[in-house]
Amino acid sequence: MSRLEGKVTLVSGGAGGIGAAIARAVAAEGGQVVIGDLHDAQGETLAEEIGPAATYVRLDVTKPTDWESAVTTAVDTYGRLNTLVNNAGIANFGPIDTYTHADWDAVIAVNLTGVFNGMKAAIPALKEAAPASIVNVSSVNGLLGAPWVPGYVASKFGVVGLTKAAALDLGRYGIRVNSVHPGFITTPMTAGASPDLTQFALGRAGAPEEIARLVVFLASDESSFSTGAEFIADGGLLAG
Ligand code: NAD
Repeated sequence: MSRLEGKVTLVSGGAGGIGAAIARAVAAEGGQVVIGDLHDAQGETLAEEIGPAATYVRLDVTKPTDWESAVTTAVDTYGRLNTLVNNAGIANFGPIDTYTHADWDAVIAVNLTGVFNGMKAAIPALKEAAPASIVNVSSVNGLLGAPWVPGYVASKFGVVGLTKAAALDLGRYGIRVNSVHPGFITTPMTAGASPDLTQFALGRAGAPEEIARLVVFLASDESSFSTGAEFIADGGLLAG
């Protein structure tokens, strides 16, 4: 299939579990992808594996100057930027009464301010390349609270609000902005966690590729009338 032929995607956290699956899926659909991450060795290995359709760039999403370099890399290497996938994320844990300011600041900086930084840096190039798409990876915890992850939940709810605000501002330029809400996906982030799978209608955890396919849909023109919307892929967790 070649649903992303001629389209260039920048994915943050692209060396990790879901991000790497997104990078592979973009290339498999005929697109080109810039993989941004903190893990240079992992990112470079992935880009080599994918081939000329992929380029790795070091990107700390909390740093606006890193974002500017990543966008420049996309435009200089592949001629344009059609899609931004804000996928990088971290999680930290503790009940709110003992949760520290440092934990709060860290998770908000990556999961929420990082998304804002990415949009700010990419919007000029996306306007040039329109029709364009921004996909913000939130979580089921951007729609439903959970104990022991106050910063994570707040950041992921924040991504939903930011997505809607940006969708309203950017629609006139032909830029769509949507959020994706994975349930429990088997990745390095969830290694060691053992959720109660009976909570999921499908009775199993998800694979990174199952989120990547949704991101491809939102990056492609197949989703041309969807913006400001939430796309859930959670195996039925929120249905109960
Ligand atoms: P992961 O830990 O496997 O990968 C995350 C990637 O983000 C890593 O490669 C990491 O190096 C990168 N990263 C972290 N901080 C960064 C920074 N400051 N700048 C750039 N890159 C940074 O996690 P994952 O499970 O693949 O998660 C991807 C996204 O999906 C995250 O936003 C996460 O919150 C979300 N999510 C995951 C699940 C799940 O069950 N795995 C569920 C819901 C939402």
